[in-house]
Amino acid sequence: MTRRPISLPSSQRLLSMPVPDPTPLTAPQRRAVAALLSVISPVADELGRLFASHGHELALVGGPVRDAFLGRSHSDLDLATDAPPERVLEITREWADASWPVGIAFGTVGMRKGDVHLEITTYRSEEYERTSRKPGVSYGRSLTEDLSRRDFTVNAMAARLPGHELVDPFGGLRDLHDRVLRTPGLAQDSFHDDPLRMLRAARFVAELGLTPLPEVRAAMAELAPRLEIVSRERIAAEFAKMLLADRPGGPSAGIDLLVETGVAEHFIPEVPRLRLEVDEHHRHKDVYRHSLTVLDQAIALEGRYGLQRDLRLRLAALLHDIGKPRTRSLLPDGRVAFHHHDSVGAKLARARLTELRFPNDVTADVAKLVGLHLRFHGFATGEWTDSAVRRYVTDAGPLLSRLHALTRADCTTRNRAKAIRLAGGYDELERRIAELAQREELASIRPDLDGHEIMKLLGIGPGPLVGRAYRHLLDLRLEHGPLGHERAAQELLRWARAEGLGDGDGPASAR
Ligand code: ATP
Ligand code: MG
Repeated sequence: MTRRPISLPSSQRLLSMPVPDPTPLTAPQRRAVAALLSVISPVADELGRLFASHGHELALVGGPVRDAFLGRSHSDLDLATDAPPERVLEITREWADASWPVGIAFGTVGMRKGDVHLEITTYRSEEYERTSRKPGVSYGRSLTEDLSRRDFTVNAMAARLPGHELVDPFGGLRDLHDRVLRTPGLAQDSFHDDPLRMLRAARFVAELGLTPLPEVRAAMAELAPRLEIVSRERIAAEFAKMLLADRPGGPSAGIDLLVETGVAEHFIPEVPRLRLEVDEHHRHKDVYRHSLTVLDQAIALEGRYGLQRDLRLRLAALLHDIGKPRTRSLLPDGRVAFHHHDSVGAKLARARLTELRFPNDVTADVAKLVGLHLRFHGFATGEWTDSAVRRYVTDAGPLLSRLHALTRADCTTRNRAKAIRLAGGYDELERRIAELAQREELASIRPDLDGHEIMKLLGIGPGPLVGRAYRHLLDLRLEHGPLGHERAAQELLRWARAEGLGDGDGPASAR
């Protein structure tokens, strides 16, 4: 989805204004907030008037309100109303270009107006079925009650429509200003009710750079085992969003929170296990820290290889060394080796991502990248033959640019000379690949007519003349690019005349 930028000139100033605890705001602050929120979307305002005319409340909630204060654009509009879903469908039937009951069982109606996507959810109450995998839903009576069951205070703000009055019962604006992540109620209760919120915490750390309050971290550590009740699909979806955060250093900070609180242990235990390992050189640089650095570096290299927020590369960077704990062995000279950790890691990555229900093609690509991440090191130590370079390219196939990024990122040595040598080695490999590709592309160029057509047009049989005609057409092709069949035929006959092969009128005269 394309994110349309919205200009929010006053957002910085607003965030730096002291905000009373929690609200109400002073009159000038209220006006500033309303002015800021009013630029979110004219479509939402229009809908707000429509709901009001039918005697119902409507408010922008969560992401769009939060992001307006941060000066970030937000593509989808989340809204809340007191109208039940059937009524929402009825009120908007004429107005929306399309609507669909996304999760009508949970009170959500999705719709589109022009290129704006909206999700309207009926107020929810705080009640949950504590044992179920998904939170149970019963409709709530007020906007404040609805906000109280949201995940974090920064997401528990609303702007009533069409007036843009800010509703912020839990001090979300203050927390946004302080850059902290806090739950509206007790963190333990919140994570107990919906353990997925622990992953959402990591996502907002990654995306927004918020710092969880100590009680939020403590509740994560305490309730981590409860993640077992959440479906693997929901976990994978939040985890992927976290990994795809575009804030530099964001994804690794999110992972670190999940690992340090013990949450990661319950859905991707291979990652926290990396902490136990020392590296090849027995220098006790832990493989876990190395993996986070490789992830940061891989993300920084995406642009260079024409990639954008690339899930496969990011997963491969995080998981590239997960075969190490399994393959660790002590050599007679006291050093540590991890023989075949690439192929073992590929298997582990495949198993883990399959278990998390990642799409098969994503899983296969990540496993392949993990399996190939050491291949370059054979190149660094000795000369590669053309066929070895060719095999590297064909084995990587469509993943070649990701493999380039991953392999370059997998260099975290503090030894500058070594880092320069490795980068230079990779430059050389890429140069060889380009050179080979160019040579082979040239070698695969054919003239516009093949030998058979040449013989037919000139009315001659096999012999050296066919070869000369062929080379002439190949020269023209290399010089001018593709000529097309007809022009090539004319050029061939012209060449034949110049060579004194008859008048060029056709097969018979050329003999
Ligand atoms: P974005 O749309 O940028 O991904 P968002 O904050 O809008 O971020 P969504 O997943 O779209 O996140 O959820 C919309 C809103 O619904 C959130 O802002 C939050 O208020 C609420 N919410 C979503 N998931 C939960 C949850 N598991 N528990 C409580 N509240 C939630
Ligand atoms: Mg949203």
